[in-house]
Amino acid sequence: MEIMLSHCPACDGAEFQPLFTASDRLYRTTAERFQVVECKQCRLMRLSPQPEPAELENYYPKNYWFTPEASAASRLEEMYRRFVLLDHIRFVERALRESGESGPALDVGCGGGLFLRMLRDRGFRAIGLDFSLDAARAAWTSNHAPAACATLSLAPFRERSFSAITMFHVLEHLYDPRSYLRAAHDLLQPEGRLIIQVPNAACWQFRLLGAAWNGVDIPRHLYDYRPPDLDRLLDSCGFRVLRRKYFSLRDNPAGLATSLAPDLDPMARRIRKVKEGPGERLAKDLLYGALVAAALPFTAIAAACRAGSTIMIEARKKT
Ligand SMILES: [Zn+2]
Repeated sequence: MEIMLSHCPACDGAEFQPLFTASDRLYRTTAERFQVVECKQCRLMRLSPQPEPAELENYYPKNYWFTPEASAASRLEEMYRRFVLLDHIRFVERALRESGESGPALDVGCGGGLFLRMLRDRGFRAIGLDFSLDAARAAWTSNHAPAACATLSLAPFRERSFSAITMFHVLEHLYDPRSYLRAAHDLLQPEGRLIIQVPNAACWQFRLLGAAWNGVDIPRHLYDYRPPDLDRLLDSCGFRVLRRKYFSLRDNPAGLATSLAPDLDPMARRIRKVKEGPGERLAKDLLYGALVAAALPFTAIAAACRAGSTIMIEARKKT
């Protein structure tokens, strides 16, 4: 079963054109091919038809987030993750400071909760939300971060109670992104900040690599946003954009490495349970690391030209 949207959910336009078809290149959860179309009126890109929720679930691998183990390699990986997440932390820290609000922060799609722990280590109160019970549980057990299992639209929180709501790589996965943005609007304190991050479909990586760009992540991404799409979406849900950033230390260089060599991506190898001996594993990890490092200058220049492969936005409620 699949969901065929006859009209564009953003502008209600009825005409669209096919852009490309592709399969699950990264995790290979299916051999099926999916089509991405573009609205002829507003240019919003979407997967069409969209898989039904029960089907889509099969395309999300178990352990879609990172839980550290006791091994030395795992500790090293966590150190790396903490280092590259500093970028996100700084962006959110500034938003929290400038908002002047005192409520806790809410991280939607919190996964294993490392971000929550890092925020808390800096003196902020932060709680998580994830629609996966395993993720919410992992956030608590591995990072001692309180996390609820729910969708944001049905989350058990009081209105106007959060100083910030963060959604890193969430909106592109949702059937109805507006429902999350409206819920965030209700849950934020008057000066509270919304921080979102999604792949930037107007980036150089997409122009160069097309369907091989990992930002389209078929079939898990139901929408591919360009900056004007996000502006319109946020505006229609009562938000005003304050700040945009096109570079992410965690996502942009690694994204290019994964686009060029999906078979080397450590998470994809773990999820696909690729059989490899310790030597082969180390060699692949080192090669992937070298690719990420080599990708850094290109991704930095692309971001400086506002064509980075991700976009992070700080927004506040319109007054
Ligand atoms: Zn449209």
